[in-house]
Amino acid sequence: MKGKVYIIGVGPGDYKLMTLKAVECIGKADVLVYDRLVGSRVLSFAKEDAELVYVGKMPDNHAVPQGEINRILVEKALEGKTVARVKGGDPFVFGRGGEEAEALCNEGIEFEIVPGITSAIAVPAYAGIPVTHRDFCSSFHVITGHERPDKEESMLDYETLAKLEGTLVFLMGIRNLKAIAENLVRCGKDSLTPAAVIEKGTTSQQRLVSGTLADIAGKVEAAGIKSPAVTVVGKVAGLGEKLAWLEKRKLSGKRILVTRAREQAGRLAGKIEEFGGEAIEVPTIRITGPDSFEAFDSALDRLDTFGWLVFTSTNGVQAFFRRMKTRHIDIRRLAGIKICAVGEATEGELSALGLNAEYVPESYNSESLLKGLLEKIVPGEKILLARADIAGSELPMLLKDSGMELEDLIVYKTVLNHNNRDEIIKIIEDGSVDLITFTSSSTVKNLVSIIGEENTAILANTRVACIGPVTAAAAQELGIRADIVADRSTIEGLIDKIIERIASLN
Ligand code: SAH
Repeated sequence: MKGKVYIIGVGPGDYKLMTLKAVECIGKADVLVYDRLVGSRVLSFAKEDAELVYVGKMPDNHAVPQGEINRILVEKALEGKTVARVKGGDPFVFGRGGEEAEALCNEGIEFEIVPGITSAIAVPAYAGIPVTHRDFCSSFHVITGHERPDKEESMLDYETLAKLEGTLVFLMGIRNLKAIAENLVRCGKDSLTPAAVIEKGTTSQQRLVSGTLADIAGKVEAAGIKSPAVTVVGKVAGLGEKLAWLEKRKLSGKRILVTRAREQAGRLAGKIEEFGGEAIEVPTIRITGPDSFEAFDSALDRLDTFGWLVFTSTNGVQAFFRRMKTRHIDIRRLAGIKICAVGEATEGELSALGLNAEYVPESYNSESLLKGLLEKIVPGEKILLARADIAGSELPMLLKDSGMELEDLIVYKTVLNHNNRDEIIKIIEDGSVDLITFTSSSTVKNLVSIIGEENTAILANTRVACIGPVTAAAAQELGIRADIVADRSTIEGLIDKIIERIASLN
């Protein structure tokens, strides 16, 4: 059976501008054929084993010829695969989606078009420029500013364009900006008409340059603006400075490295994005089960012999209940066992399962936990401590030394993600992150083990934020200075502190 091709637009940059349909189609595709302006977050919606085929511009600036792209689409569909042809913006706005649809049509291959939010409207909008406004214009026109180098005469009819009273939006025209502005003025457009250029719109690196037809090209050159950029000509272009909203978000323009395990990174990354920052997720660890489940299963079989169950992390909670589920152990077997949760997040994880912890230590260190437990525990009650392999033996030793009867159980393991080494070193070294976040001592240690101690010097030029004093101390020990330390050791506490301090750090 022949496969099907979805020709999908994913918007201009901010991946949250994808449509629900785009997310759905990308999620079910066997093959993704994607362009240069498609970000990695978009690709993260693909199936884990999906084949990724890049057909955008190569480093040497050579584009894959359109005929070749058409051929790939046809070939993959003929293999019976579901293909997502993923494009920036809208596929039918200067996206050559029409040509691809024709090629599929000629081969009798089924396809669907999934429209996207075009940069022609969304990029100005992110810069506070409405492409129409009742006071100023009654139309807007989207024009290619890309002129074929082999053409001596311009393809654009400037006489007609200059007469239009509507907003003019030029895509792909940044290199020809000077000629575009001059031609419009030569053909009669007022040289004082407002003009604006927006580079890398809707991303954390968006920049706006405003001026008039007379001076915009010079200003853009001085600012070093490069493709991709959108040019807006017309009175609405003057509104950008007044209506700018993107920059007002508290973490706007900040690129923040998130180093937690993939499973947990989501919440911190989500918060960063909520405040307009860009979260760069490079998980340093992966979470797996213990090497053997023998001790784990044995403890689960003897649940009723324990008086207390101590969880020190959300991962511990998840690992514990995952195993109970796998072994079909009913949650009611926990009846009568008291629960101690270290940290608000751990408490929250339990509460989501309908379990209220009897005891949550006020602060997160072992001493405080021990002190509280000693007060609560009834002599003879046995403790089951569910922890990570790397959590260290300090807590179990402390508990044992104080005479408690303790079973120390490793319920999950954290494994270093060495595959990310080069990527991490590169983004830190080339200054593409403004801040590195550490949410536990282990995230610091892991990052250092991955990049290698000999490379920690590269961290000196980047700001570092830690979730609390313990993490900051762990960083210090490895020669990393924490510029920001949260007062409350939670994701929210960390974000609040970053927002409070980040402006004064630059
Ligand atoms: N199909 C796309 C346009 C493809 S042509 C769409 O509907 O948006 C590529 C041009 O789009 C670029 O040269 C630039 O002019 C514009 N563009 C795309 N993404 C952009 C972005 N994030 N910021 C500014 N311009 C962008």
